[in-house]
Amino acid sequence: MSKPLFNRLALIGVGLIGSSIARAAKEQNLARSIVATARSPKTRKRVAELGLADQVVETNAAAVEGADLVIVSIPVGACGEVAKEIAPHLAPGAIVSDVGSVKGMVLREMGAHLPANVHFVPAHPVAGTEFSGPDAGFAELFVNRWCILTPPSGADAAAVEKLATFWRAMGANVETMDADHHDLVLAITSHLPHLIAYTIVHTAEDLQAVTRSEVLKFSAGGFRDFTRIAASDPTMWRDIFLANKDAVLEMLGRFNEDVSALTKAIRRGDGDALFEQFTRTRAIRKGIVDIGQDVPDFGRPHPGLPETKLPRPYAADED
Ligand code: NAP
Repeated sequence: MSKPLFNRLALIGVGLIGSSIARAAKEQNLARSIVATARSPKTRKRVAELGLADQVVETNAAAVEGADLVIVSIPVGACGEVAKEIAPHLAPGAIVSDVGSVKGMVLREMGAHLPANVHFVPAHPVAGTEFSGPDAGFAELFVNRWCILTPPSGADAAAVEKLATFWRAMGANVETMDADHHDLVLAITSHLPHLIAYTIVHTAEDLQAVTRSEVLKFSAGGFRDFTRIAASDPTMWRDIFLANKDAVLEMLGRFNEDVSALTKAIRRGDGDALFEQFTRTRAIRKGIVDIGQDVPDFGRPHPGLPETKLPRPYAADED
């Protein structure tokens, strides 16, 4: 982009997502200047060392001064407090956004504090890895991934479109939806899979009969993929389950019913029921690969095949 879309981009929180935005925005020349801040002096120092922003400041209030785009990239449980803190310092007309994995709570808790003269447009880039911190980010993280915008009703259409343009310029595909609908969709596509991964890894760890070394040694039989997801940041995921409680409990209830049905089929030796279900789920996997949201075998090079460069990022966890 020849002329930057924004004059001053303020990033609050510079972990995996915040630092990926910093890198992509810089690479695509989306802001004349980038100012960043993080909670800890250690992260701020690292952000400065990595050269992720033109300016690294100590407080959230200082970061947002004069910014026409503010993006809060911190755990969802902390977003309300930060909105309260920055509210008096925001420039009139600024776009304020976030990247949280749950939208209903962010919409309510940030929205309650933000002044009427700014444009609040929450966002969720459905892209990620199991790594955290400013070193973990990379400019291509959002390429060919979805970014879901959940503007409140009555949001300024031009502001929503400007933020959509920002995300598209970083390579994302943008979709707009209602915050509660977002939370229901993500409960099944992201939150429940994480809950299952956290549970199964815990169950394996608890098993007395299987030694730790055997679990690790034979992990390629499916367990390995769960361990990657279960390595995701504990703070972030604690906040997600607390913030999206209702939708997650709804999906968990349905899941438990389906597990009971499968249990029954196994106990009764009902091979037809198992076969029919596995055939249907196989088609879903094929559909995901067909629309380019993942590559076969999760992008792992096959040991028997010549190494080819596979697209990064992979469809991670989240997210
Ligand atoms: P991260 O790498 O762990 O970085 C988190 C950042 O938030 C750090 O700068 C951290 O500061 C700051 N922070 C943590 N707790 C805070 C608090 N109580 N108050 C203020 N700042 C705080 O996390 P991330 O993966 O970038 O995730 C950030 C947001 O993106 C979350 O809301 C998450 O739901 C969402 N998201 C994550 C993914 C994913 O796959 N990781 C994908 C999409 C969306 P310090 O380093 O100074 O502690």
